[in-house]
Amino acid sequence: MSIISCHECGIASDVDSLKAGEQARCPRCHCHLLGADRDPVQGPICYALASLIAFIASLAYPFMSFSIQGLSQQISLYQAAEVLANFNNNTLSVLLIFSVLVLPAIYLVCLLYLYSCISNTVLKNRTQNLQKRILKILSRIKPWLMVDVFLIGVLVSLVKIAALADVSMGISFWAFAIFTCLMVKTVSTADLYWVWQQLFPVSADDNDKISGQCFQDNTHLACHVCGLVHTYSEHTHDCNRCSAKLHRFEPGQNLQVVWALLFASVVFYLPANLYPMMYTSSLGNSQGSTILGGVIELWELGDYPVALVILFASIMIPIAKMISLSYLYWHAQRVHSMPVAESYRFLKLYRITEFIGRWSMIDIFVVAILVALVQIDGLMAIYPGPAALYFAAVVIFTMLSAMTFDSRMMWR
Ligand SMILES: [Zn+2]
Ligand SMILES: [Zn+2]
Repeated sequence: MSIISCHECGIASDVDSLKAGEQARCPRCHCHLLGADRDPVQGPICYALASLIAFIASLAYPFMSFSIQGLSQQISLYQAAEVLANFNNNTLSVLLIFSVLVLPAIYLVCLLYLYSCISNTVLKNRTQNLQKRILKILSRIKPWLMVDVFLIGVLVSLVKIAALADVSMGISFWAFAIFTCLMVKTVSTADLYWVWQQLFPVSADDNDKISGQCFQDNTHLACHVCGLVHTYSEHTHDCNRCSAKLHRFEPGQNLQVVWALLFASVVFYLPANLYPMMYTSSLGNSQGSTILGGVIELWELGDYPVALVILFASIMIPIAKMISLSYLYWHAQRVHSMPVAESYRFLKLYRITEFIGRWSMIDIFVVAILVALVQIDGLMAIYPGPAALYFAAVVIFTMLSAMTFDSRMMWR
């Protein structure tokens, strides 16, 4: 018998009879609990392999080129981050390299290895410690994969500079677009809890007693890394399967942390809007533009769709996210029992907030691409402004705050 405790509402459900191609959803909040592809092993292997090939192709050729008055500049994906590092903006270049190149590559290679272990018994039995370590790493890096956000950032920066010069896309750009689609498919096909169950099947004897019980009532402990459910005991501290620390339901402590992270993002929000996001220097004149300034400039140039994208991603989403998170935390702090319909309404708001948060990174990627691409000595150059880093901090802290929040508080 296999039990999964819903990480969003805390109810424990039996998901034993799951067949290939089926998905188990929480009976109370309908969130995804466990699922496998129609071809549970070969499917993810094929998608991950195809993604990896497209990824290598996107590094091998020129990504974009830019030409103005007969002078041209060409960049590869890797150069974009390298140029940023040269401007003493190492944090931004590390952010770009990790979220767009390093983490996706690690994710794909590790996933291929794990699924190969499922299908190969010799490999499976030989490298068990390594498999556990890899699975732990994968669950940590999954929220930070930003290839899809980066692709939209590239398209926005394309429109931004199209008014100033001729821009053309290289082979790598098309390879990257294919890579993005395949990567999104791979991430949605691979289920890490399912992989844990295949590689390290554990069955507890008293699981039938836990089924239908709530985590909030201290009936069980659920591992946030591998999903294994344990009978509640004061003496159980670590997960039997992956040795991760088991967290008890501690609403007060959780709220302190999420409020602190949210407060940090509010503090960074002010300089992110007051300082210039980037400087454009053209024929000796240097001009800074803030986030709002950039939106107004695009609007005046007639690029309404792009102006709206930046307005939404950089101004509306961060504010909406901060307000809705404060609203959720404030409610979670005060309400000690809630009807199911209302809990569900709050959970929906939380899901939307968590989903849209990462899209605010678009503007950061736009700055990174423009800075890397537009560097023509004496004629035109773009430099990153201090707001880029502050804005990245706003996005990261709101994401951390939303990820740390225990939504089970709303299901008491
Ligand atoms: Zn649920
Ligand atoms: Zn575990």
